[in-house]
Amino acid sequence: MKPRAGNKRARITRSENMRRIRSKNTVPELVVRRLLRGQRIRFMQHSKKLPGKPDFVFPEIQKVLFVHGCFWHQHRGCNESHIPNSNRSYWQPKLLRNKLRDSSNKRKLTKKGWGYAVVWECQLKNEDRVLTRIERLVRE
Ligand SMILES: [Zn+2]
Repeated sequence: MKPRAGNKRARITRSENMRRIRSKNTVPELVVRRLLRGQRIRFMQHSKKLPGKPDFVFPEIQKVLFVHGCFWHQHRGCNESHIPNSNRSYWQPKLLRNKLRDSSNKRKLTKKGWGYAVVWECQLKNEDRVLTRIERLVRE
């Protein structure tokens, strides 16, 4: 009886660990959320009222933070933003539209008096750098 209960507990702990590791490494938004919580920075998520539906909103200081995927938002000079040669005629206009929409949303935010910053998916490998960017945004 006793050993079985122990095994069960061990199994649960292991799967919880796996889940934690997976989300920590793969979902950019969760990484940023964890960083913000660690800094005790108060935020809201996914405000539909603001241009571009920013991923993170800091209402008291009128700032927003976008977490952009390098491919979908065409991170300039980034390896992850490479458009596949095979389907160029499909991808190129589609991704260009995304980029134009991003620029237009940023202009709209500025007009409304909101500040913004962008964190790119590839930059999340260096959490210290991302933290510096976030701190600059919320403290400046
Ligand atoms: Zn990138």
